[in-house]
Amino acid sequence: MLSGKTALVTGAGRGIGKAIAKKLASLGATVVVNYSGSKEKAEETVAEIVAAGGSAEAMQCDVSDFKACEEFSKAVVAKYGKLDILVNNAGVTRDGLLMGMSEDDYDKVLDTNLKGAFNMTRHFSRVFLKQRSGRIINISSVSGVMGNAGQANYSASKAGLIGLTKSVARELAGRGVCVNAVAPGFIETDMTNAMKEDAKKKLIENIPLGRIGKPDDIAEAVAFLAGDASSYITGQVLCVDGGMAI
Ligand code: NAP
Repeated sequence: MLSGKTALVTGAGRGIGKAIAKKLASLGATVVVNYSGSKEKAEETVAEIVAAGGSAEAMQCDVSDFKACEEFSKAVVAKYGKLDILVNNAGVTRDGLLMGMSEDDYDKVLDTNLKGAFNMTRHFSRVFLKQRSGRIINISSVSGVMGNAGQANYSASKAGLIGLTKSVARELAGRGVCVNAVAPGFIETDMTNAMKEDAKKKLIENIPLGRIGKPDDIAEAVAFLAGDASSYITGQVLCVDGGMAI
């Protein structure tokens, strides 16, 4: 149970972030539902949590903006007095083969997926260190573990997140803060719905468990890493991918 805990999930208006926010709230956490542009979607997530008897609030912040993240962290701490669980989930794709990839497409993905997690972790670690407790969970990807043709920018950002996870885990372990990553495989969200049907079919053929994952599959793993049952686990990457990365 997460009663009395405060959690922040970045990019929680839709997809995997939404499922994580709802799961943590269902376990009793008060959840800050962060969004960048999707205000209505974030408010829908909050409304669903509140309708189910939980507690949540939508708060805007572009995770790629270092200064904005600093102001955001101050606003969260001013309101809730603490933060127990940080889930760095916000992410984007700009897929394409290396030879055609623009600098903008590379920078956008790295700035959001990797620098975004750094920005939030950097500003909230002040709170975690003071509290001498906390959980940071970074949403990486099977692409960061295995690489993926057509996703050099995305794979680099997600592999970078694994390095960030392990280094920060070592730095904060002495203060009782656990830092782990979840590496989802192919999960049904807006991000993957953009794929063509034949490409999807081919991908499923490479999933040992033979199905596309659901956002709730990821939310369950995050709930485990956020709760007391995982208190002796840090610096790890948990692949939730139907066996893709075996
Ligand atoms: P999605 O449905 O496209 O949602 C992406 C989320 O990220 C949105 O809530 C979006 O919020 C937020 N976001 C994007 N840029 C942001 C920014 N600058 N600041 C704050 N929030 C921002 O994607 P998803 O499939 O749920 O993916 C969630 C995470 O899981 C990502 O990190 C993704 O890389 C990872 N992942 C997904 C899969 C998959 O198969 N779906 C597989 C492996 C890993 P706004 O709409 O407000 O911008």
